[in-house]
Amino acid sequence: MSGKQILSTSFRGEEDSSETSLRPKLLKDFQGQTDIKANLAIFIQAARERKEALDHVFLSGPPGLGKTTLAGIMANELLVEFKATSAPALEKPKDLAGILTTITESSVFFIDEIHRLKPAIEEMLYTAMEDYEIDWVIGQGPAARTIRIPIPRFTLMGATTKAGQVSGPLHSRFGISIRMNYYSETEIIQVLMRSAGILGITIDHEAAELLAQCARGTPRVANRLLRRMRDFAQVIGDGAIRAETVAGGLERLQIDSQGLERHDREILRVIIERYGGGPVGAETLAISVGEAPETLEDFYEPYLIQRGFLKRTPRGRVVTARAYELLSLEAPEHGEQELLF
Ligand code: ADP
Repeated sequence: MSGKQILSTSFRGEEDSSETSLRPKLLKDFQGQTDIKANLAIFIQAARERKEALDHVFLSGPPGLGKTTLAGIMANELLVEFKATSAPALEKPKDLAGILTTITESSVFFIDEIHRLKPAIEEMLYTAMEDYEIDWVIGQGPAARTIRIPIPRFTLMGATTKAGQVSGPLHSRFGISIRMNYYSETEIIQVLMRSAGILGITIDHEAAELLAQCARGTPRVANRLLRRMRDFAQVIGDGAIRAETVAGGLERLQIDSQGLERHDREILRVIIERYGGGPVGAETLAISVGEAPETLEDFYEPYLIQRGFLKRTPRGRVVTARAYELLSLEAPEHGEQELLF
């Protein structure tokens, strides 16, 4: 079985080695999300005291908020093995069976993008999660028969940016559900200060504050901006990140004081100029702005919605009065938008 290729040996994504070094390994290093951490610490301690596998954990929320990080931390705190994959990598039931039959007792098995599981794989997970067994079909045609194979007791951690797309039967099998939300500016400052410490970057508090306002409440974005500011400080300045470095750097990156990038403004502008402010369907909008529907829905839209520039309606996306203001465009006096003013 092909478990080796399916499991990721390192964490996924755009991350380079410096990002990996920034990833917190223990709960005490995970900034913010105080309530979530407090509960998890109790569940982890309880499982450890009982010498049992932790109940299955469902993690939802926008990308870059720390779902993968938190799953890894839980495995570390539980002192168990951590294996990670993502739903699209599990193509056939044998891919999943290969992993589940070889994991160690009480280990954490992390599946990212769990809303994208294929039905046959999801079906197999049901018995795996509930009974710690999998159904395996031997032979073909009339001679085929199903045998049940026991697997080690394990903790499934499923992460998704689209909790609404996870089926009821799958969701109900998770005993712990964690909904992650955008971080406050204070929490993002904590993330920035910790990362600056690890990377050996000098940054003053005012600079961190400015940067935090533009980090979309997202640690991954905060770390990315910090690395870019380090580049500016190193090449143009004297190496230290100060408020002027950040102000100049953000201008060069075309990021405004609310954390909106050129592409965010472009999305709002397209809705206004081509679709009269909306409503416009998600697919049409994605094509119009040259973005993958997933990226548009997962990364750009949630923040635009949270900041009150965009609304999702049953008929499609509609901009609000704030979007017209942001782009210094005149809002129409009548029409659909009127409702949203
Ligand atoms: P997700 O799985 O939700 O997309 P990740 O777990 O990959 O997000 O987190 C993205 C990056 O942000 C990580 O590499 C980590 O360095 C950083 N990060 C996330 N959450 C925190 C946190 N609470 N404290 C410090 N750093 C964090």
